[in-house]
Amino acid sequence: MGGYTGRFAPSPTGALHAGSLVAALASWLDARAHGGRWLVRIEDIDTPRCVPGADEVILTQLAACGLVPDEAPLWQSERAAWYEQALASLVAAGLAYPCGCSRSAIDVANAARGIARPRNGERVYPGTCRDGLHGTGLAAWRMRTQHAPPLLHWQDRRLGAQTQDLHTQVGDFVLRRADGLFTYQLAVVVDDAAQGISHVVRGEDLADNTARQRWLQDALGLPAPQYLHTPLVMGRNGEKLSKQNGAQPIDIRAPLAALNAAADVLGLPEHGGTIGDALAAWTAAWPWRSAT
Ligand code: GLU
Repeated sequence: MGGYTGRFAPSPTGALHAGSLVAALASWLDARAHGGRWLVRIEDIDTPRCVPGADEVILTQLAACGLVPDEAPLWQSERAAWYEQALASLVAAGLAYPCGCSRSAIDVANAARGIARPRNGERVYPGTCRDGLHGTGLAAWRMRTQHAPPLLHWQDRRLGAQTQDLHTQVGDFVLRRADGLFTYQLAVVVDDAAQGISHVVRGEDLADNTARQRWLQDALGLPAPQYLHTPLVMGRNGEKLSKQNGAQPIDIRAPLAALNAAADVLGLPEHGGTIGDALAAWTAAWPWRSAT
């Protein structure tokens, strides 16, 4: 196989919990099972949602679990110039355009087309500003989807063949918000390429973003990583575990217990030895080996 580089990309909106540790452990094990490198990227671009100091807490928790990146972590808050450049090239290619629509304007336009409910809480963009800026507010920048392949196909190493019609199911999506912040979709694609990420391993809740990211990679001429989306840990309310539904921070005084719980979600057996032994045993037992 070519060189393997994997990553864990937490948003520092709080400490690592049982759910986020599954993604961290899975990405580490997949990298080690393929003889690859494992990097960490702190996704602190949505600054209003970031909690000061959470990045250092997460790095400390990872280290306590024996998950230490092979290079110094990357902080997205330091990478705006790269996102700016990527957006400029999409604008130059006619693939991104400014949009002055408010959320309520999008809802009104969608209602007029008989689209009542936002999908996954997201609004399918009706294309109001596609041929020219409407509204007078600060403009966001959106990525055109009508030039994307009608059905975007990609392969998930665990979930199998995936398909999404970006244009009708997502619509032209935001690359830069009206408040100037770059979005996850743009930043993740720019940084996965900048860090040479060959394999993305992350929670299944993010699978739905992959078609957008594949489209951006194609539009920016960037290589496409392979994707593996891991099972989720559910919270008390039946939704993905999060701080809001009872997730407790990983206790760095009992890292093996936390690791065993994460391993169980990944279908790996309980291990009672040292952290190093447990990680080695799980690496050997890792079920999602790929040939490439
Ligand atoms: N920063 C994202 C999160 O914490 C993960 C991004 C990714 O792995 O692509 O949910």
